Amino acid sequence: MRRQPRERSLFWRPGAPPRQRGASRGPAGHQGARAGSGPLVRRPEAGRPTRRHALVDTEHNRRLWDYERRTKAGFDDIETVLRRIASHQFREDFVDLAQDLARRELGHELPRRLLEPAWTGGLDVRSLYAFCVFERFKRLSREFFEEDPLGGQQDQAVRRRLLELGFHAVGIAPCSDGRLAHVVSYVLRLPYRAVRRKAHAGALFDISESVRNWVAVEHLRFRSGEPNTADAPTRYLKLAVYHYSSSDPAHQGCAAHGSDDHAAASAALERLRSMREAIENRFCCGAMVDTLLIGVDTDDDSIRVHVPDADGEIGLDRYVDSRALYERTLGMEAAAARETLRLEVFEGAEKRHATPPVEGMGELVAWLVENNFAQLEYVRDCHGGRYDDIGHAERFIGVGNGFEEVQLRNLTYYAFLETLEEGAADVDVGNKIFGKLNVARGLPVPIVIRCDYDGRVPGSRDRAEARSKRIEDALHARYPEPSRKGLLATLRTLRDASGLAPSEQVGSSLELDDPAEGH
Ligand SMILES: [Zn+2]
Repeated sequence: MRRQPRERSLFWRPGAPPRQRGASRGPAGHQGARAGSGPLVRRPEAGRPTRRHALVDTEHNRRLWDYERRTKAGFDDIETVLRRIASHQFREDFVDLAQDLARRELGHELPRRLLEPAWTGGLDVRSLYAFCVFERFKRLSREFFEEDPLGGQQDQAVRRRLLELGFHAVGIAPCSDGRLAHVVSYVLRLPYRAVRRKAHAGALFDISESVRNWVAVEHLRFRSGEPNTADAPTRYLKLAVYHYSSSDPAHQGCAAHGSDDHAAASAALERLRSMREAIENRFCCGAMVDTLLIGVDTDDDSIRVHVPDADGEIGLDRYVDSRALYERTLGMEAAAARETLRLEVFEGAEKRHATPPVEGMGELVAWLVENNFAQLEYVRDCHGGRYDDIGHAERFIGVGNGFEEVQLRNLTYYAFLETLEEGAADVDVGNKIFGKLNVARGLPVPIVIRCDYDGRVPGSRDRAEARSKRIEDALHARYPEPSRKGLLATLRTLRDASGLAPSEQVGSSLELDDPAEGH
């Protein structure tokens, strides 16, 4: 494999992409995959200047691309570097040489215990691979919280605007699919700190957990007036995100719904209705939750926003399409483009055979569609208008809660869970995906376990650590065969979610520090 050059600022020039995982590995990436060659950033055709939408911030897109490109390259370089290291395993100076290469190419050393038996032919590539993925994840976490590369900690303006529109909190429930992991920071262009994200396979979020979170949010308003007092007529917004693939709807849609768009959308809608009903039945105070349903086309990140009617009711066939609105408003001045958006959302309701949405909700829909325009140009400029990896190409599985630092498409298959029992179905789906991505090629499934805690609450950290251990043990018990063969590796991490500290490692199935405990 050719080593890719690593210059930065390649935004508008042909540049080196993160290698396209899945390019040579069967059904997951068969469509349009281009074996890792060819630039992701395409030149506009000669003589035809690329048209820019008046509502798109090009400079912001440039920063997002720089982050995506170098972060994914960091994960994808691991395999290349390990292949080179493995090719030297019978040399006498192998350990020094391997450490030298690892330091230079990956930025960290490798555990000596894994390198020393190499001359007997026993180089443990599986453990080395998992170790490097985990190191890369730790670096990702550090950079994300300490340097804020996506600007997601600048959330005050967005929170204020949400409040003005009538929403004091926003909970987003996307599908766990890695192709939606960037839904907050990229597809919808919201600062990650302004919303709460919990992913579940098929966007089938846990209603009881969502109700508990709603209670906590309302309690905070009641007791502390945060972010506003409980008598203010604002609402909690629950947003569910399903997905589909326009170019290969029968295979690259949502795995949890058998790639059936309609089933994916209606199941998510059903959850939204149930959550609203649960809160209304239990707390009997009229509608206190607004709901919104969004569909993402994972080929190009365009969105369908299902505009609620005046009563907040959502119809599966009643939506605005960001792609169509982008095309229609391209070339307009910013003000005219915004007006066209508003008209489509409010007055277009008649075409949709519905009453127009209430003011705040309609404004929110128009805002999200406008935000998505930037992502459409991003995918056009950086990924040729349609992702090469339209199928799965995640680099690791994340289980537990939190994972704010994962804001990139196809980086992580993420399953929210407190115990493995409740999230087993989601993890099974992820494991199946990685069966094709990694295990089929002899590489392990790297699973990062994350348990967030509240540093202000006594004992919270200890409980989180115990929970992470329970999840780890349950994972190895659930998949005994891969675990025994070194094809399942786990990293346990905790994070104090009350601040901006990165995640910390508290354990790993690799147990590299103490050879006596190794396997
Ligand atoms: Zn899905």
